[in-house]
Amino acid sequence: MTPVRALGAFSGGLDGMLASRVLMDQGIYVEAVTFDSPFFDVQAGKTAAAVLGIPWRAVDFTSDIVALLFDPPSGFGKNMNPCIDCHATMFKRLKEIALKEKFDFIFSGEVVGQRPMSQNRGSLNRVKNISFTSDILLRPLSARILDPTPMEEAGLVDRDRLLDLNGRGRTRQLEMAGAYGFSHIPSPGGGCLLTDPGYANRLRTLKEADLLSGDNARMIKFGRMFILDRAVGLVGRSSEENDKMLEADFGIQLDIQNVPGPLGILLGEKTGKNLTLLTAIMASYTRAQEPVTALSNQNETFTAERIDPAEREKYNIRL
Ligand code: SF4
Repeated sequence: MTPVRALGAFSGGLDGMLASRVLMDQGIYVEAVTFDSPFFDVQAGKTAAAVLGIPWRAVDFTSDIVALLFDPPSGFGKNMNPCIDCHATMFKRLKEIALKEKFDFIFSGEVVGQRPMSQNRGSLNRVKNISFTSDILLRPLSARILDPTPMEEAGLVDRDRLLDLNGRGRTRQLEMAGAYGFSHIPSPGGGCLLTDPGYANRLRTLKEADLLSGDNARMIKFGRMFILDRAVGLVGRSSEENDKMLEADFGIQLDIQNVPGPLGILLGEKTGKNLTLLTAIMASYTRAQEPVTALSNQNETFTAERIDPAEREKYNIRL
C-alpha cells in the first residue's frame, strides 16, 4: 500500500518537530519545507529535519513576504510582522507544491491559543479560509479541539491519535520531546526579524522612503543606518561587519582611502550629495583630522570633512 504523504510547514521549532512525529507515528510519510526570506534563517529548519531524519527543502519566499509588507490585508502584529497573511501565503504555496507532487495533505505545528494574535482560534480559521486550504490543511497538535478535517473524515489520518494541545504552556511539548528522545530541542521564540522592534523600525524607514525590496531588507541587517535623500546609508560597526557588507555585494560601496575607517554602503538614490554626506558620516567614525576621501566600487571618489556627531544623529535610525 502506498503510504499517506504529508508536507509540513517547518520553521525548525519544537512544535513543527512534534507535529511531524505525531504523523510519522501513524506511518505517514512526512517531508518538511522551510520558507526562506531575508527575515528568517532556514538553518533551524534544516537542523530540526535532520534530527527527525525527514527530507527537507527551503523554498524562496522573499517576493511573497515583501509584497505583504506593503499592505497586509489582515494587518501587522506588534512590529512589522504580518503573521496572519504570512501564514496564509505559506499555506497557499505549500498547497501548490503538495498538489503538484501528490502529497495527500499539508500540516503545520500551530497550537490553538499559543500566540495571542496569530494563533487564537479565530486567526487559525481565518488563515485556513483566506489560504483556501480547508480541504487539505491539518494541525496535528490541536486537531482534536478543532473541527475534523476531510483527511480525518476520509480515514487518511487517525483523529484519535492526534493531540488536543491548547494554550501557551510548553510542558506537554517538552515531555513529548523527552519521550521521543530528540537530540536537539529548539528554544522557543520564532527567530523572525519582522518581530524584532529595532529591525522593524529600520524596515519601516525603508518602506517610508520607498526603498522596500528584498535586497535592501537583507542589507539593513548590517551596520549603523542613516536616512538620506530617498536613500539610506549603512556604516559598518566592526571589521567583521565590514566584511559581511562586502560579501553581500549590494549597493554602492564606499571605502575610505586615506585613514582606517568603516565601510559604507548606499542604497537608493545615487547622487553626489548622498554619497558625499555618507562619506562625511563615515569620516566621523575615524580619527581623521583632515577631510577623508572615499572610493566607490564604481570608481568614483568623494571627499568630505567629518560631520559633527550631533548633526549626524539627525540621520541615524537606531536598531
Ligand atoms: S513570525 Fe515572521 S515568519 Fe512567522 S508568520 Fe509572522 S511574519 Fe511570518
